[in-house]
Amino acid sequence: MIYEAEWVLPVTSPAIKQGAVVVDQGSVIDFGSAAEVRTRHPEREVTSFHHAILLPGFVNTHVHLDYSVFRGLLDDCDFGDWMLRFMVAKRRLEPADYAASALLGARECVSSGITSIGDTVFDGEATMRAANRFGLRAHAFVEAFGMDDTKISRVVKQTADRVGRLREIAGPLAHVGVSPHAPYTVSGPLYRALTEFAKAEHLKIATHLAESRAEVTFVRNGSGVLAHDFREMVGWDDLTVTPTGTSPIKYLEQWDVFEGDVIAIHCVQASQTDIEVLKRYDVAVAHCPKSNAKLGCGIAPIGAMLAEGVRVGLGTDSLASNNILDMFDEMRMTIFLQRASQQSAVCMGAQQALEMATIGGARVLGSHDLVGSIDVGKRADLIAVDMEHSHFAPIDDPVSALVYGANQEDVFFALIDGKVVYDRKTFVTVDSERIAHEADLVRGKLRG
Ligand SMILES: [Zn+2]
Repeated sequence: MIYEAEWVLPVTSPAIKQGAVVVDQGSVIDFGSAAEVRTRHPEREVTSFHHAILLPGFVNTHVHLDYSVFRGLLDDCDFGDWMLRFMVAKRRLEPADYAASALLGARECVSSGITSIGDTVFDGEATMRAANRFGLRAHAFVEAFGMDDTKISRVVKQTADRVGRLREIAGPLAHVGVSPHAPYTVSGPLYRALTEFAKAEHLKIATHLAESRAEVTFVRNGSGVLAHDFREMVGWDDLTVTPTGTSPIKYLEQWDVFEGDVIAIHCVQASQTDIEVLKRYDVAVAHCPKSNAKLGCGIAPIGAMLAEGVRVGLGTDSLASNNILDMFDEMRMTIFLQRASQQSAVCMGAQQALEMATIGGARVLGSHDLVGSIDVGKRADLIAVDMEHSHFAPIDDPVSALVYGANQEDVFFALIDGKVVYDRKTFVTVDSERIAHEADLVRGKLRG
């Protein structure tokens, strides 16, 4: 099949006016100007999108699909309070509820042009089955928690069992990893044990790290809302909290976590020496600018990280802390927050943001040889964005138009691994209305 559009954005090579991409058996086998491509492949069928931009699907490096029904429930509270209230709300749902919730999130990913996700899974089966239903390329990181060091072997065993179970139900586009949740929910010794497990099983590790001031206060001083109210609520108040006097990033270095293949989610509270630690161990960063801003956590210093050569991709985080899974919004927020905080309009641009949302994210998840750009030999994960709307006109630079002007509703087509999963704004593999209805029933449990 040949897919043609007014603009093709390969991302890692210049934009092509009146471009085309040839897909055969799920792979990109050629791309270039539409006229030349048609000459080289006269026998192939053509799908023409006309006034549209064709680009690689977005790579969302951090999301929690199974938390999607919590959208808009905890909109206006600080990180510590948000975490407390969220933990209480989570207890009200059962496994079947999380299955409905994950389907809602997967539906929004596909309709927003997200074709790959890095998902830290509370209910891994819910996420894996939702990804399979929609044909999403998924990296599911099994979450682990534990502050009681007498239970380390039990937690590692449970994690191993869950990893094994997910591997059994994983589709051909899915990968399984491990996610020690965060420094305020996982002890240093448990972090070390889970890292050893991940290394032995050749699994990637994703961990929430240096997200909030509350986390810094907890790690450095052993105090604050995460040391008191939060631990009391989860039943860890009889365990001693030891102040470490260091930053969350250096704390994990001390427990050998970065000896693993690590994605650090957030890294808002990162000093220059923290960033040097990330670089030294080639730790990748999942940057979630909207979630961090919404929860009042701050702005991650990704300009400094990129300058050091740290791999950075973009993430939406969950719908519990971000009300839409819209990578256009994340790209804009990335640019504007860096520019506003540095008081410079040249510190971050549209091309850089587009790279972080595509090939940069693929480098974070380790799938850059397969996806993240339009290149011969890569798998065909492509999306099309409709340029018919007034907010696109006039266009000179399609990267600028896309990054500064588009939003999730403009996506009308998605191809994952060569398969059409979203066509003219219709879901090919699922009953979309039913998913919305079932998610609304689950939300009723949170209202009551
Ligand atoms: Zn998260």
